[in-house]
Amino acid sequence: MEEKKELGCLVCNRTENETPLIMMTYKGKDLRICSQHIPVLIHNPEQLVGKIDGAEEIIAG
Ligand SMILES: [Zn+2]
Repeated sequence: MEEKKELGCLVCNRTENETPLIMMTYKGKDLRICSQHIPVLIHNPEQLVGKIDGAEEIIAG
């Protein structure tokens, strides 16, 4: 079991107490990203490699 911890933006790790977060699911995992980093997800997903398991598949489309 993974240790339960407070999840923040997958890019900057800011929490919902610091910035509005968008919640997503991917491969059965809950992910959060702040509004500031949504463009990264859309336009530069290669920056998420190493932050999200399987990010390579997002790039591959
Ligand atoms: Zn962020």
